[in-house]
Amino acid sequence: MTSLAPLPHETPASPSDLEIMRLQLGRDMRGVVSIARRCGCGRPAVVRTAPRLEDGTPFPTSLYLTLPWLTLELSRLEATGLMAELTERLESDEQLAAPYRAAHERYLARRAEIGEAEEVAHVSAGGMPTRVKCLHALAGQSLAEGPGINPVGDQVLAMIDGAAPELVCRCQDEEPGTDPDEHRTDEGEEGR
Ligand SMILES: [Zn+2]
Repeated sequence: MTSLAPLPHETPASPSDLEIMRLQLGRDMRGVVSIARRCGCGRPAVVRTAPRLEDGTPFPTSLYLTLPWLTLELSRLEATGLMAELTERLESDEQLAAPYRAAHERYLARRAEIGEAEEVAHVSAGGMPTRVKCLHALAGQSLAEGPGINPVGDQVLAMIDGAAPELVCRCQDEEPGTDPDEHRTDEGEEGR
């Protein structure tokens, strides 16, 4: 395997990052390797996680979005039927499908840098390589790798104010009483 260029925004995860992610998610984030991307305010936005959690559970989504405002925006887009539209486009548009397959391979190669879980060896995230099943996972890869790697993640981020090219802080936008996590579909058990 040829080695990849380092993730462009990766930084170590501090104890305060772990605490912020606990507040963002309402639970402890497990298997934390590093912070792959931060919000404009410095809070973790995408966490890089090990493909196998401490208790042995495989966790294929190794670039995991934690930022509440962006999670909520993506959940809203998912609710519009965008994922079905994008999946249809992948079936008919090779200009989109080819780089999307490459993003899948990139996801697996990136994850292999930090470990292996043979149960999910060929499973990336978000529905790749041929479907769109979770915008959070695809956007997570786009934010972590930078633009030009995941064409679907890039397109989706371009639809959200403040998400691209820079990740502008909108942490104050959060609606009280909204639990963005309840809409997530990229938990480790899913997508096989
Ligand atoms: Zn912020």
